[in-house]
Amino acid sequence: SKNVAVMTSGGDAPGMNACVRAVVRAAIYHECKAFCVMEGYEGLVRGGKEYIKEMSWQDVRGLLAEGGTNIGTARCKAFRERPGRLQACQNMIEAGIDALIVCGGDGSLTGADLFRAEWPSLIKELLDTNRINQSQYHTYKHLNICGTVGSIDNDMATTDATIGAYSALARVCQAIDYIDATANSHSRAFVVEVMGRHCGWLALMAGIATSADYIMIPEKPSSSKGWKEQMCEIVSKHRSKGKRKTIVIVAEGAVTSELEPISSKEVRDELVKLGLDTRITTLGHVQRGGTAVAYDRILATLQGVEAVKAVLECTPDTPSPLIAVVENKIVRKSLVEAVQITKSVAEAIEEKNFDKAMDLRDSEFVE
Ligand code: ADP
Repeated sequence: SKNVAVMTSGGDAPGMNACVRAVVRAAIYHECKAFCVMEGYEGLVRGGKEYIKEMSWQDVRGLLAEGGTNIGTARCKAFRERPGRLQACQNMIEAGIDALIVCGGDGSLTGADLFRAEWPSLIKELLDTNRINQSQYHTYKHLNICGTVGSIDNDMATTDATIGAYSALARVCQAIDYIDATANSHSRAFVVEVMGRHCGWLALMAGIATSADYIMIPEKPSSSKGWKEQMCEIVSKHRSKGKRKTIVIVAEGAVTSELEPISSKEVRDELVKLGLDTRITTLGHVQRGGTAVAYDRILATLQGVEAVKAVLECTPDTPSPLIAVVENKIVRKSLVEAVQITKSVAEAIEEKNFDKAMDLRDSEFVE
């Protein structure tokens, strides 16, 4: 039997709690001890019983639907440097953790992958500097690590959905429905800024689900002149057909084909030029809040259970898994590969190779 720890890291996402609950209970079901690492990698670097806590079946009661993450998350600078990871390695060994499940975004999973790759040299250094003994060295020679993707952005390659994305999408749609009512009443235009960092999934899906007039996402940019002309033409056409409201959705990371960020103010100015009374609404952190939708509760639960199975079945030769969902099935993918492809998407955008970025970004995107 193993000691399985779970942590949440990076930006919080609805469903992370459900994932923690699933991991804790699946671990106990498989006759393992379950632990939670508090405050993401920060807790791993600090260590001790305050940050690496054993959890009972009851400790995770009531977590299934709750938004955010009750075991805390943080951005941890120390973990980005080797000394921080060395300390984390020592703390894990001292706590007796032999498997770690990380629920986080692409940054967190990049960190997890690096930790896994570095583990043999970290543990060797701990032995050489007498921070662990021979027997610990042999017991903890291999790091069993597994990722589940918790992110409202749906920005991870090789999985169709990330935990939290559908909850955020539901919240965005609800907010736009509210805006619709007032826009329609006053015959106004609204520029709605949606989260998603460098990924346009939330903006695009929200646009489809609320029939927005125009959507701007980082993966499909046009020139700074191009988007203005196209948007104004489309909006004018809709207006000429008697539409009383205009909604333009701007993804947080929206850029022009010259990679200049597009600001909501710029978009508003164009709509004002059309004679429209235009307001900007930045949805902000409400997009992260609230309970997880049914899909995220289910996804997080199934993935949490699968993550525990995966770490228990791992041998030193199995590559670290990422628990994904592909065409509605929970599957194991390679953590390294998912991290690499996700990185290539960012690189493709930097190289202005937008078609490649779209291809890499997977099937849930529509042209
Ligand atoms: P997210 O996981 O939501 O993408 P971040 O990118 O902020 O969020 O990553 C969360 C944490 O993961 C960081 O604060 C850091 O501790 C760790 N991390 C991210 N990238 C790396 C990296 N390249 N190397 C080591 N640790 C990393």
